Amino acid sequence: MYIRPFDPWKSKLCTCPFKYTLNPYTGCDHACVYCYITSYIPKAFKVRTKEGLLPSLERELRKFDKRFIIAMSYSSDPYPTVEEKLGVTRKVLELFKRYDVRCLLLTKSNIFERDIDILSELRCAVGITVTTVDERKASLLEPNAPSPRDRIKALKKAKKAGIPVYARIDPIIPFYTWEDFEKTLKALNFVSHITVSTLKLRPDIGARMRAKFPELMRKLEPLYTERYEGYYYLKRDLRFTILQRARELIERRGITFGSCREGYYSYPTCDGSHLVP
Ligand code: SF4
Repeated sequence: MYIRPFDPWKSKLCTCPFKYTLNPYTGCDHACVYCYITSYIPKAFKVRTKEGLLPSLERELRKFDKRFIIAMSYSSDPYPTVEEKLGVTRKVLELFKRYDVRCLLLTKSNIFERDIDILSELRCAVGITVTTVDERKASLLEPNAPSPRDRIKALKKAKKAGIPVYARIDPIIPFYTWEDFEKTLKALNFVSHITVSTLKLRPDIGARMRAKFPELMRKLEPLYTERYEGYYYLKRDLRFTILQRARELIERRGITFGSCREGYYSYPTCDGSHLVP
């Protein structure tokens, strides 16, 4: 089965409405330093296609309950570099169109611009993740992902085509991307919903972060004192101060606010799925 219920771990901190998820590829070559899939996907930064994906998916879609949403993707990006050449995700979207599937798309690429023609005919909402609009910081954090500027440009085009659009500012990294939060927010002013989340650390993420940002990690690590479900979290007072401020700044712009795996407020949904028609 390629379509799976989201959150098979049933995390207590996950507030997502029930939905399904589909990863058109295994692995993701954006190679974000804070990526969590490296803890459960071997060779996570190497993109592989899935054998027999399209015929299997078509069989699954014939029986799929259309009330539910399929989110793409939470354990990869639906638009890795190779998608430009292979067009697997485009073919998946064609199947979604044929079977009238409701879809929540999330990417860190601008390649989806190519698919705006199909996306505008689907029941879907499209979102991008932008951790910072500082291009230098973004290239250190997300070395192989297209630039935030290009992602934002593509999302504006999607909005112009009538597609509901949202964004994730995720993760917020104190002393680093948090410094640019207002600028990032200003650049995303045109979206309907923003989901935020603070950086969570696991051993693999910590090791990559320490190798790349030794100074920053010297300041950050002593603040990661709380542990939930295998992740270290920023201590609660600091985390909630950041989330409260982010919420004020987002809502002040007339954008709805969501938070992801924080045990904090979201409205109307944490993940933007209320935008899917
Ligand atoms: S885009 Fe997402 S899945 Fe891909 S490397 Fe970055 S964090 Fe991991």
